[in-house]
Amino acid sequence: MDGARTPQTPPVLILLGPPGAGKGTQARMLEKEFGLVQLSTGDLLRAAVAAGSDAGQAAKAVMEAGGLVSDDIVLAILRDRLAAGDCAKGVILDGFPRTTAQAEALDEMLAEAGQRINAAILLEVDDVKMVVRIAGRFTCRACGEGYHDTFKAPKVADTCDCCGAQAMNRRADDNPKTVMSRLDAYHEQTAPLIAYYTDKGVLRRVDAMQEIAAIQGAIGALARTVVA
Ligand SMILES: [Zn+2]
Repeated sequence: MDGARTPQTPPVLILLGPPGAGKGTQARMLEKEFGLVQLSTGDLLRAAVAAGSDAGQAAKAVMEAGGLVSDDIVLAILRDRLAAGDCAKGVILDGFPRTTAQAEALDEMLAEAGQRINAAILLEVDDVKMVVRIAGRFTCRACGEGYHDTFKAPKVADTCDCCGAQAMNRRADDNPKTVMSRLDAYHEQTAPLIAYYTDKGVLRRVDAMQEIAAIQGAIGALARTVVA
């Protein structure tokens, strides 16, 4: 038996990145390659409510009253979840923390369990390129084929290469203005967390404008330094 392979304090990773930066893809890679479990706040809450745990019942009461579930409840649910057997190899947090206060409370809770944030991985994007990337997307309504103004234009304008339909569809919230304001909101919200985790010495930056395979390579190399 190799004791080092079963750490008593499973690593905790955080993935930070704007919508469209490929967080989901990278989280799935980390799950597959390292046996980590991705924990998103929404999934955590739903599972706790369904399971009827104390914290889950508290969350249910708040949500039914139309309120926002407090940090204390989210942390209690997260603490229960981290102790579950399937999290023994480590977890990736998605969507929590969102504020410095939450990050501090999370650190306290983890410290009580002998754990800590081992790495906060920041997927860095170029905003202008992100707008081009996201706002250029459209799909064929008939067959679902995906296209892009810059990177994958159909051979005949507005006509699907695959099925010949002329039924291209753009998502209303993929327009440049909306994408830019989403990015602005993301940067505003994330800047304090970047500062917080930089101070803690755990922030790791990855260029998310590279090819997906290169991003995966970079994140995998980072993960190997903290995952036993
Ligand atoms: Zn088509």
